[in-house]
Amino acid sequence: MTEGAVLHIKGRILVGPDEVRDELWVLDGRVSYQRPAGARDVRTVTGWVLPGLVDAHCHVGLDEHGAVDEATSEKQALTDRQAGTLLIRDAGSAADTRWIDDREDLPKIIRAGRHIARTRRYIRNYAHEIEPGDLTAYVVREARRGDGWVKLVGDWIDRERGDLAACWPGDALAEAIAAAHAEGARVTAHCFAAESLPDLLAAGIDCVEHATGLTEELIPAFAERQVAIVPTLVNIATFPKLADGGEARFPAWAAHMRRLHERRYDTVGAAHEAGVPIYVGTDAGGSLAHGLVAAEVAELVKAGLSTTEALSAASWGARSWLGRPALAEGAPADLVVYAADPRADVRVLADPQLVVLRGKVTG
Ligand SMILES: [Zn+2]
Repeated sequence: MTEGAVLHIKGRILVGPDEVRDELWVLDGRVSYQRPAGARDVRTVTGWVLPGLVDAHCHVGLDEHGAVDEATSEKQALTDRQAGTLLIRDAGSAADTRWIDDREDLPKIIRAGRHIARTRRYIRNYAHEIEPGDLTAYVVREARRGDGWVKLVGDWIDRERGDLAACWPGDALAEAIAAAHAEGARVTAHCFAAESLPDLLAAGIDCVEHATGLTEELIPAFAERQVAIVPTLVNIATFPKLADGGEARFPAWAAHMRRLHERRYDTVGAAHEAGVPIYVGTDAGGSLAHGLVAAEVAELVKAGLSTTEALSAASWGARSWLGRPALAEGAPADLVVYAADPRADVRVLADPQLVVLRGKVTG
């Protein structure tokens, strides 16, 4: 027997990129495709259904100055939930957000622990700032603290050089990434420029964030090894403003950032065409607002993904990549209902009609 009203969703249930069903039931917090026997109190809603969206690059517990308190973290997570984001890969946070795991009303977070950066080579108060000799020890520590991911800062401005520069020598990366893999964790790295990418590839990196520096020479290797990228195009959109701000002191860096920005759609489009896995990430939590998942899906369509491919990058595909179920029979009922078909126009994602998390309709 079930308690309370049984939720019944009719319409188009987008179970996968090629699988559509007509109706779905939410029973005891789980997805079912069988009408429950003897269900009396049934609430029926109609619409297009996607699995709970995924933001694969999001920071809960951070703002532009560093770690935030629990009330602020809660607000961030609720903003993501309202946008339909029910699964977050947290790409590094200085705050301990483990308490969120006990909150049934907040999105599920897959953590990468805290960012690991080279000394004075990242945003202040965000990262463990260390030297290459300590890289493996820190990577192992964060692998044990996180939920299967470790986050490196692969490149950042080198103020002496006045431009972006790789942060780690190749041998230190190879040892550290092997150690993470031995712990069962995957490793991702923040990279804007091309320079850091060959060493990270050779070291066995699993994913690259932003990846604006991907070149024609590098893309085939990314595709062959299925190294994923999370472009965060809504963040890349801020490069011109950053460049303006840094122009006077670092003109070469500013010019570099503008070049990366100008070819951002070509970069992502070429990677996609070559078969590099691409996922939706917003980079919320630093300087960007939470809840921008719909905008990032629209950006990926602009870069050349089909609407179904862009949706998959925020739903079926992303969930499979992160080892989480979508809308299979018996899966936790994490889903979003829309008034129109998001495959026809992904802008529909910006206006969810109903967000269901662990079987509960959220307010
Ligand atoms: Zn980030």
